[in-house]
Amino acid sequence: MRGRWIRRRVAPPGLALLFAVLSSSACGPISVAQEQQLGHQFESQIAREVTFVRDGAVNRYVDKIGQKIVGAFAPHEFKYQFYVIRDDQINAFAGPAGHIYIHTETIQQASNVSELAGVIAHEVGHVALRHVATNYNRQRNAKIGTQMVTAAANILTGGAAGGLASLGGGLAAMAVLNQFGREAEMEADAFAVEVMPRAGYHPDGLVTFFQVLMKQGGPQPPAFLSDHPTTVDRIQETQALIAELPNKHGLMRSDGGRLEIIQRRIELLTQSRRR
Ligand SMILES: [Zn+2]
Repeated sequence: MRGRWIRRRVAPPGLALLFAVLSSSACGPISVAQEQQLGHQFESQIAREVTFVRDGAVNRYVDKIGQKIVGAFAPHEFKYQFYVIRDDQINAFAGPAGHIYIHTETIQQASNVSELAGVIAHEVGHVALRHVATNYNRQRNAKIGTQMVTAAANILTGGAAGGLASLGGGLAAMAVLNQFGREAEMEADAFAVEVMPRAGYHPDGLVTFFQVLMKQGGPQPPAFLSDHPTTVDRIQETQALIAELPNKHGLMRSDGGRLEIIQRRIELLTQSRRR
C-alpha cells in the first residue's frame, strides 16, 4: 500500500479522499461523501460475486417496499437502492451508501409483506443511522482494520477488485461491515418500528420474522442470525416499542396475495420451496 502511494507523484482524485478516510475519527462514521465513494465501489464488486434476480416483477416488488420505507423518513443522505440476490440462505445486508441486498430465501420465508418490510426497514436503519459508516472506522482499528484500509486504498486508487480480493472479496468485506453490536441492532429495530407504520406497514412483521429466524436457528443458526444477534430480549424490547405505538389500526400485514405471487415467481426462477 505504501509503495503504491510513493510511486504516485500526482495524487489521483481518490487519494485525497483516502487520506480523509484514514485521518477521520476512529469512533465516528466516515463522511457521507466517503461512504458514497465506497458504496459505488462495493456495489460493482458485489455484482461480480453474486447472481442478482433479473426478473422485473420481483425487483419492482422489493423496490416498491423499499422506497415506501425510504419515503417514510427524512432527510436522506443517500439514494437507496434495493437488490435481490439469488441465494437459498435467509439473509439481508446493508452496503455503504444505501445499497441494500435481500436474499431470495428471505422473501420466500416471509409469511406476509410486513415481515419483508421489517427486514428491509431494519437494514435501511443501519445505513440511515450511519452504523455501516461507523463500522468502517471501527473495523479499521481492529484486526481486520489493516486489510480494510488496504482495501480502501486499492479501491480509491482504482484497483477495486484487487483491494476487495485481499479481504476475500466484496461479500467478505460486507460481512465485516455488517457485524453490528447489540446496541446498533436495537437502534435499527427501533428505527423500523418508527418508520414502518408511516409507510403503512404493521411493525409486528419485524417481531414475527425474528421468530421465523429463531425457529430456523437450531445448532447452526443462519448467517442472518449470527450477524444480527436475535435474542429473546431483543424481541421483547421490540414488542414493547410496538405496544407503545398509539394507533396501529389499518396498518398492513398482508398485501392481498401479491407477496405470494412474487414468491411463486421466485420459486419458478430458483426452484426453491416456500415454507
Ligand atoms: Zn441488523
